[in-house]
Amino acid sequence: MLTRNTGFPRFARNEVTFMRTPFIAGNWKMHKTIDEAVALVTELRALLEGLEGIEVAVCPPFPALEAVRQALTGSSIRLGAQNMHWEEAGAFTGEVSPRMLVGLCDCVIIGHSERRTHFGETDEMVNRKLRAALAHGLTPIVCVGENLEQNRTGKTEAVVGAQVRAAFAGVGAEEARQVVIAYEPIWAIGTGVPAYGPDANRIVRDAIRAVLAQLYGDEVAQAIRVQYGGSVTPANIAEFMQEPEIDGALVGGASLRAADFAAIVRQGLGAKMGRG
Ligand code: PEP
Repeated sequence: MLTRNTGFPRFARNEVTFMRTPFIAGNWKMHKTIDEAVALVTELRALLEGLEGIEVAVCPPFPALEAVRQALTGSSIRLGAQNMHWEEAGAFTGEVSPRMLVGLCDCVIIGHSERRTHFGETDEMVNRKLRAALAHGLTPIVCVGENLEQNRTGKTEAVVGAQVRAAFAGVGAEEARQVVIAYEPIWAIGTGVPAYGPDANRIVRDAIRAVLAQLYGDEVAQAIRVQYGGSVTPANIAEFMQEPEIDGALVGGASLRAADFAAIVRQGLGAKMGRG
C-alpha cells in the first residue's frame, strides 16, 4: 500500500525529521493509446506493489483516464489529468472541466510549461485553474520554472517567485496546503540536461518557499510539497531527493517506461530516507 499525505507521516533522514510525504508523478504527455496506457499502468502497478511511504501518480492523456482508473482499482497509485479548464461547463470546444474530472481522477497538472508555451496559458489562467481544482477537491500539481534566457540572465528567482505568487492569488492558507508545486526549469524538460540538485534546492527554498512563507507563514510554507521536474531518470533521482527542500519529482519521458518509473520511485524514496 502506498500512503497518502493525510497524516503527515514523519521520516528520519540523517537525523533530520521531516513531515512531507514524498510524491512522484508521471506526466505521460500526448503518449499512449488506451490499450498502451492500460498495459503500462498494469506493469507499473505490479512493480510497485507493497511499497509504502511515498505517493505515486500517473497522468495519462484524457482518453485513457477511465481505462487507467479501472486498471488501478484497489491500488494506491493516484491518477491525474494533465490539464483542465476552470469553468464548470460551457461553450469551450475541446476543453475538459473540473466537474468532469471529479470521480475520474484525483489530481491535475496545471500550468505545465508546454501549456504556457504552446497554448498561451498565462499566470492568470493558471490561477483560475488552480482555484477551480481546489474548489472541486482535486490536488493541483502547479508547474513553475524559468526558461534558458531567464536562467542565464539571473532572473530565475524573480520569475519563479512571481509565478508562485500569481498562481496562489486568492487561495487561502488551508487550501494552499493541498497544492503540490513542480519546479521545472524549462531548459531541463525533455532535454536530457537536468538541473543540479543543489541549484534546484536553492530555487525551491529561496524562490518558492520564501514566497509561500510571505503569503501564508512558515508553517504552511513548510507543509506544501515541491517536486523537481526536468530530465529525471533512475540515474539522477537520488540527487534531487537527497535535497531537503525537494519532496518528489514530476517525470515526463522516463515515466513512459514502467521499469524506469518504478526505479525512480524506489530510488527516490530510498534517497529521501537516507539510503540513497
Ligand atoms: C515534464 O514533462 O514535466 C518533464 C519534466 O519531462 P521530462 O522528464 O521528459 O524532462
